[in-house]
Amino acid sequence: MTSSQSHLIFDTMIGGTKPVTVVDNGHKCPFCCREKLEGVIAEDGPILLIANKYPVLQDTVQTVLIETDDCAAELSLYSKEHLHRVIRFGTEKWLDMIASGEFESVLFFKNHGPSSGGSIRHPHMQIVGLRHLDYTVNIPPASLEGIVISRDGGVELAVADKPLVGFTELNLKLADLGQLDRFADYLQICAHYFLHHFNRHCNSYNIFFYYIGGQITAKVMPRFVTSPIYIGYAIPQLSTRIPDVAADLKRIYGL
Ligand SMILES: [Zn+2]
Repeated sequence: MTSSQSHLIFDTMIGGTKPVTVVDNGHKCPFCCREKLEGVIAEDGPILLIANKYPVLQDTVQTVLIETDDCAAELSLYSKEHLHRVIRFGTEKWLDMIASGEFESVLFFKNHGPSSGGSIRHPHMQIVGLRHLDYTVNIPPASLEGIVISRDGGVELAVADKPLVGFTELNLKLADLGQLDRFADYLQICAHYFLHHFNRHCNSYNIFFYYIGGQITAKVMPRFVTSPIYIGYAIPQLSTRIPDVAADLKRIYGL
């Protein structure tokens, strides 16, 4: 048994060959060329799970969940039916990888927009099994809690009062898998809020899913250039706008 790692090893040789289409630069979108996609692991209509063609992280299994065949679509704009289908598919594949026992932990996350850290615009998520690294020890339990905005149908939405990075993070807790569609509805509200009602400069967000102690939690965070105070000193910051965020979400989305 190999001991736990604290760092993932990034293969720069593979990294250098990766296409970048998050900004329109004339590159063809690799996720639109469906007939050329290799390594399909699972599919549900327009939704695909494929092996990542550029597995830059050593000692991991990297997969990509292509959410739709519409390159210009966005999770915040999906019909309820498609939204539920995508989140059910992704959660199922993520939990399958956790249950396989092959990994110390499994990441499940989404990047959207130029400041999110993603390189491809086409709506997608990633599920990454880490053979020798347990991410859960890096997540302070308090960072997944917060001031509760809404509790509805087995889903709790809170605005973080001890954010992981800052300044504004929304945390969603799922009571049981039977409420997954409602959980998806809330994810969509959070993504829509950050893109359309939060800050006119916000065009990027991340969703991070956590499975810790049997509890599924998702964190939705708007992305900007990250504060040097966090990068250099690991000090998260809390926005003074937190009460406004809670009030806005209630008012705009009727929570
Ligand atoms: Zn595309």
